Amino acid sequence: MNFNKAQLGAIEHKDGAMLVLAGPGSGKTAVITHRTKKLITKHHVKPSEILVITFTKAAANEMKERFNSLMKDERVNVSFGTFHAVFFTILKYAYRFTSANIADESVRYGFIREILSYYRLEYKDENEFIGNLLAEISLIKNSRIDIENFYSGVCGEEIFRDIYKKYETRLKENRLIDFDDMLSYTYELFKERPDILALWQNKYKYILIDEFQDINRLQYEIIKMLAAPQNNLFIVGDDDQSIYRFRGSKPEIMLGFEKDYPDAKRILLDTNYRCGRYIVEASLNLISHNRERFDKKIIAASKSKAPVTFADFENRRDENIFLIRDIDKKIKAGAVFSDFAVLFRTNTQPRQLIEQLMSYNIPFKTKDNIPNIYEHWIARDLFTYQRIAGGSRDRADFLQIMNRPKRYLSRDSLCDATVAFDEWIKLFDEKPWIAERIEKLEYDMKLISRMNPYASINYIRRGIGYDDFLAEYAEYRNINKEDLFDILDEIQSGAKGFATYEEWYEHIREYTKQMKLMALSKESDPNAVTLATLHSSKGLEFENVYIIDANEGIMPYKKAVLEKDIEEERRLFYVGMTRAKTSLSVYSVKSVNDKSAQASRFVRESKEPRQNNSRDD
Ligand code: ATP
Ligand code: MG
Repeated sequence: MNFNKAQLGAIEHKDGAMLVLAGPGSGKTAVITHRTKKLITKHHVKPSEILVITFTKAAANEMKERFNSLMKDERVNVSFGTFHAVFFTILKYAYRFTSANIADESVRYGFIREILSYYRLEYKDENEFIGNLLAEISLIKNSRIDIENFYSGVCGEEIFRDIYKKYETRLKENRLIDFDDMLSYTYELFKERPDILALWQNKYKYILIDEFQDINRLQYEIIKMLAAPQNNLFIVGDDDQSIYRFRGSKPEIMLGFEKDYPDAKRILLDTNYRCGRYIVEASLNLISHNRERFDKKIIAASKSKAPVTFADFENRRDENIFLIRDIDKKIKAGAVFSDFAVLFRTNTQPRQLIEQLMSYNIPFKTKDNIPNIYEHWIARDLFTYQRIAGGSRDRADFLQIMNRPKRYLSRDSLCDATVAFDEWIKLFDEKPWIAERIEKLEYDMKLISRMNPYASINYIRRGIGYDDFLAEYAEYRNINKEDLFDILDEIQSGAKGFATYEEWYEHIREYTKQMKLMALSKESDPNAVTLATLHSSKGLEFENVYIIDANEGIMPYKKAVLEKDIEEERRLFYVGMTRAKTSLSVYSVKSVNDKSAQASRFVRESKEPRQNNSRDD
């Protein structure tokens, strides 16, 4: 590779702090791997004294591979890792921890489940509830918020505080730490034990960090201690690609780096070697609409004239078919499946696309855990209604829908019943109000049994009142109503076109099978189209990139209301656009699940730079 002057300046840098601030595709990651090599081959630094940190395991592995291929056959033990992995290594030595001391997801869920048994809390899906609690606990630990000042969105404050404290006690009693503790434990350790800190300072003489814009306060404090006193700290990043503010990342740390390290050298890289010139142009148009940013010069190295394609489709089906035809066309012209990536904002978006890819036999893989929508509790509810309509007298089925909605009977009136459904109904023969409701239930079920799957969901939603129930449930649990309705709409639209329940279920079984296969072959299939969320596409590159459903409410996401949230969404879109080497396609739709939809403002913004005179600050 012929590095440019600025890149060489960074690669050749030896001692002291350096900040490389540059846009996408400018070779920041390349500079890290090449500088690591230079430190060893030219400056004779011992490989074991070099520490290279990134934010995800996948990125760390990729970096390691890139580095190994630079070093040819030579085997060198540079440490490549995530913050968590590095900090855990430090804790291992200090406290003789092994991996058995890490509280993994199942242990954490287990603790909370046990703690919850002390309270009478009502929730619909236990795992979801626990997941929400754990996310709040994690946020508190990461941002070092005082628990007394924390307002829980999951349950009442007092109970939450109680749960939090019990959870912490469980960890301590069992000599366990969770992922969040790895940061605070390391921080405390370094503060309290200068001798141990000195050992690690001595071990890692050179520290390099990629994607530095995503660092949080605590990570930074630890790194500052670790890098002292030589401060051979080499950081690269792009504030325009900061997409984890919601998790406590602080890009201002990178922009303020020179205040902490007045001797730090700064290098700006201004050439994008990845994206064709029109992709660079469109992405710059877009990001110029953000106010809070460090303005960078970005020139496209590639002379490729491939245009950016924007298209607006009637619905997702048309969008998917067009996308698949486009892949097909490019494959016929010599591309391979691994040249393609389809990017989306949220995990529920690609359900229809996955079904289409399956029917066209196009191999795909994913970087994310795309949940199977048919395993969601809302889907389970719908199936249960249909099962009962189909004649099931399973008591568990019956209990599941009885109070969803609170149409037939309240759950309390059912609790004592330990007998089978049919006998149990007899118990209520003398109580006319119950008989009336049972009659209504039987009537509803008879109707449903004669309907096709799509129509039956319609009836469950509006005839039986499932929509009302869902809205009430969302309000009661203080969760976003629209998220639940998105899932319900998505499931219902999947049922369209199936004449019988059996056909629909067969289709779902096949879908579920494929989803499992995909989860197993995750990332390993060398010849498959990549499906990824915008978040997990960061740092990667592909010949052809599609961004699907570029619509208001999806991108920017409907929860982004404040200007600073919109700016984060814009950065996320920017990350997605700049993954493309030769072709970028941005697709929007005119309707999502039969509701009309509007193209994203980001589409418009990509075509026009912001007018400077409109700036009011
Ligand atoms: P991102 O911000 O998206 O992480 P980056 O700045 O880390 O991007 P890299 O991934 O390091 O960019 O590089 C982008 C692409 O450009 C890579 O394929 C890399 O090999 C190539 N590249 C980098 N520098 C040069 C160069 N001087 N000449 C040719 N290609 C280069
Ligand atoms: Mg990079």
